Parts: sequence; structure tokens; C-alpha cells
Amino acid sequence: MKKILLGMCVFGALTAFAQNQNPENAKMKPEMTEFWDPEVAVVTPGESNLNAPSDAVVLFDGTSESLVQNWANGKGEAPGWSVADNCMTVVKGTGVIKSKMEFEDYQLHIEWRTPAEVNPESKSQGRGNSGIFMQERYELQVLDNYENRTYRNGQAGSFYKQYAPLVNVCKKPGEWQTYDIIWTAPRFKADSTLFSPARATVLQNGVLVLNNVQLLGPTEYIGIPKYKIHGPGSLILQDHGNPVSYRNIWIRRL
Ligand code: MG
Repeated sequence: MKKILLGMCVFGALTAFAQNQNPENAKMKPEMTEFWDPEVAVVTPGESNLNAPSDAVVLFDGTSESLVQNWANGKGEAPGWSVADNCMTVVKGTGVIKSKMEFEDYQLHIEWRTPAEVNPESKSQGRGNSGIFMQERYELQVLDNYENRTYRNGQAGSFYKQYAPLVNVCKKPGEWQTYDIIWTAPRFKADSTLFSPARATVLQNGVLVLNNVQLLGPTEYIGIPKYKIHGPGSLILQDHGNPVSYRNIWIRRL
């Protein structure tokens, strides 16, 4: 009984405290701050957090059909990348692949694997290099940085030469890794100048590596980034000459 009384006193005190913050609240009822409509859309989650939820667009499901259906090479022709064992792999010299669909704001899940066989001569940017370009311009680096140093703003989990990852959470070469990316497209004013920069949050293997970073413009190999007005864009996966593989790619428009 004592406990109940004490509990009631604490609850009473907390309620009074909350109301004292804003004297207007004393005139209100709880229902006055409840919103019921429109009802929040129902989405069925995937079997695990790796699997596409019901409202996702699956861009690659492991089959050649889905590669050809959803992706093209840089010239708009069928991609030259190979498909085997539920994944697609860069074929050196065939160039980038580009999603046929274009996107603005989204949540993207993508899995990647750098080659198990590591040439001891290859180091820094030469080991398992590829990349995922948001809206054809902004590269989230894919690289084998397991016991392989490179410049910090060019390693896996970086937006190339703009933001280094918060931590290096790379798995060993040959192991599958995940990126979950929340992408907000840049916005432009009527006079074509920048209204708001692109923003990105990225988890690598479930670990936060980029927290709501604001991009400075398209990622550049040489020079300073600068925004130029553009609309929705494709996803691009880079051919950097290394046989990097990708699988289980899905995207949710936001
Ligand atoms: Mg790259």
C-alpha cells in the first residue's frame, strides 16, 4: 500500500511538473494532441533486416534477368558484368552499370564483396575498388580496407574525398558486407543555385559510418566539388578494374 501511495505521489508530481512547463496545458485534454488520420501506411518487413520490405523496388535479385531488366552499361546497352552464385561481378573494362530507374530521396540496401584473393602488390586504392554513385554523381566508396590503409576520406564508407567514415568496420576480403544508405537529394532554386545540399547517413555492416553528412557537391577525383543543378538520377556501380561483386540490391523511395 505504501508503495502504491508513493507511486501515486510521484505520478502526481510528474504530471504537475509537466503541466507547469506550459500553463496552457492545464486547459487541455490528452486527446487534443492525438492525431489519427491519415493512418500510417503498413509495410511488411523482410524476413531479416537484409531482406526487402514489401514497399521496396528490388534492383537485383541475383539473376541475370534482373541485371538486364534493371541495369544498362554506360552506353545504354546490356551490362557486361557476369552473374553467378546469386551475385553480379565487375568484368574489367566493360564499364559502369547504371540503374534504368532514376531516384531522388531513398533508403538503399546493397551488399558487396571484394575479391578473396589479394595480390600482395596491390595496396591503398588498388585493392577491391568499386563504388556506388548516388544520382550518378556522389560516390560512396567501395574498397577493401581490411588491413589496407589509404587516405581516410577515400576508404570504404567514405563519400569519396569528402567524408571519412566514423570507423573502419571492413570485413576480410572475400566476405560479404552491407551498406544501408539514407539519401536525401540536393534541392535547387529556380535560378539553378543550390537550395539545400545532398545529405547521407550510412551504415556499413550495421554500424553507423556516416551520420547525416552534407555533401559539398559531386565527388571529384581531382579538385574541389561544386554543385550543378540536376534532377533525379540513376544509381551507378563503378568498374574500377577489380572484380568486386554485388548482390541483394533494393531501394525504397522516400
Ligand atoms: Mg571507387
